[in-house]
Amino acid sequence: MKIGAVYIRVSTDEQARDGYSLAAQLKAIKQYAQNNDILIESEFIFKDEGISGRKAEKRPAFMEMIKQAKSKPKKFDVILVHKLDRFSRNREDSIVYKSLLKKEYGIPVISISEPLNPDDKMSVIMEAILEAMAEYYSINLSGEVKKGQLEKHSKGEPQAKPPFGYDIVDNKFIPNQIEKNIVKMIFEEHGLNNIPMLQIAKDVNELGIKTKKGNKFENRTISYILNNPVYIGKLRYTPGRRDTYDFDDPNTILVDGKHEPIIDINLWNTVQCKLAKNNKWKKPHQQTSTNPKHWTKGLIRCKECGCTMVTCGKAKLRCNGYNKGKCSNYSTLDINEVYNLIISMIKENIDNGVINNIVPHKKEEISNKYGIIKKQLEKLDEKEIRIKEAYREGIDTLEEYKENKNIILKEKNKLIKELNLTEKPKENNRKKEILENGKKIYQILIDDSISIKEKNEVANILINKVEFDPNDNILELYYN
Ligand SMILES: [Zn+2]
Repeated sequence: MKIGAVYIRVSTDEQARDGYSLAAQLKAIKQYAQNNDILIESEFIFKDEGISGRKAEKRPAFMEMIKQAKSKPKKFDVILVHKLDRFSRNREDSIVYKSLLKKEYGIPVISISEPLNPDDKMSVIMEAILEAMAEYYSINLSGEVKKGQLEKHSKGEPQAKPPFGYDIVDNKFIPNQIEKNIVKMIFEEHGLNNIPMLQIAKDVNELGIKTKKGNKFENRTISYILNNPVYIGKLRYTPGRRDTYDFDDPNTILVDGKHEPIIDINLWNTVQCKLAKNNKWKKPHQQTSTNPKHWTKGLIRCKECGCTMVTCGKAKLRCNGYNKGKCSNYSTLDINEVYNLIISMIKENIDNGVINNIVPHKKEEISNKYGIIKKQLEKLDEKEIRIKEAYREGIDTLEEYKENKNIILKEKNKLIKELNLTEKPKENNRKKEILENGKKIYQILIDDSISIKEKNEVANILINKVEFDPNDNILELYYN
């Protein structure tokens, strides 16, 4: 049994004529489907009514069907139409769509009232041309769908999730009363009071306000809001845009939306002038080198928020969470001091033969017998505490408590005996491994002839993270 989709269309002037009505087309198609073992599900019946059909993008149901035909896994196996001209008034277009659906998505189009005619020269020629031009036409087909999006956009209908400040109701942006005021505050603070974006992000976070995705505000969130013309009642659409934060894409199309503006045009203009001025000072292409400037790159973390400490200025490190306005740890670390400290910590650990703060891998399980018995004993201790609590809370009677305690004690004694007979593991292998690696890596880290990049790579083998606790001003070293 195949799953079939149905496409039916009727134009305004055709509606009067018998035999062409939607109901008549559907009836005939359903009959055909029944005779040919095709199951038609109502969600895949696509209707365009009173539409001329000259252009595909003006037929919403048709476009929706093409869109669904593309989904993987396939939603339907075949498309049924009454006559192929339902696909398009233009014969060539019909054949193009038919061939493409077959070729690109493996979905044949069956015209139930037109038996397949191998002598149909037009079809044969078209399909031969298509064979040669498949690539061109597949671009064309996705182009049609894009046109659909553009069309929605040009009518002022939102096609995206609502931006901060709005909710979406019946496909229309409606101001969200709380968020609306925050947006106003952001524009006024930056435009009129000259407050930097970073500070605004912090202020918004302090109010406990979250983004639409439930995240904290960062300076780029503020930047995105200040650059979004949705707040003056416009809609922005950039076909093929990759970078969400590229606000100057020349392909951007702005149209008047149907929604209520939140920001008045004067304030918007003030803010835009300010943003343009600041942009002047930005380097056109910010340098992003793959070569780290220091071998601790990516290893030092802020204990407050878990973010990486990144360079700020020439020789300092600061929490990247702070840079984004998410973390309150503003203290900086001197890079050279940190290097020396880490090096000396590693050296000390090696010299003592003690590796501190070994954080076991979560997945690592105690595989030896000794460890397993230890774990079982720990569990019994926990159980003992729980039964005591149950007795205190009046859940268990004294009798029940005594009985449970006896069972636990018996089990415990058995395990302790077993433990005494089991050999304690002589050495922690991981510790040994780290110690050996540590010696080698230490030599590399202090070797001036080795590049920073290489040092960074080997440091990452040994070190899991170096946590910086700003409250006590201490560094903690965690090995892998
Ligand atoms: Zn932090």
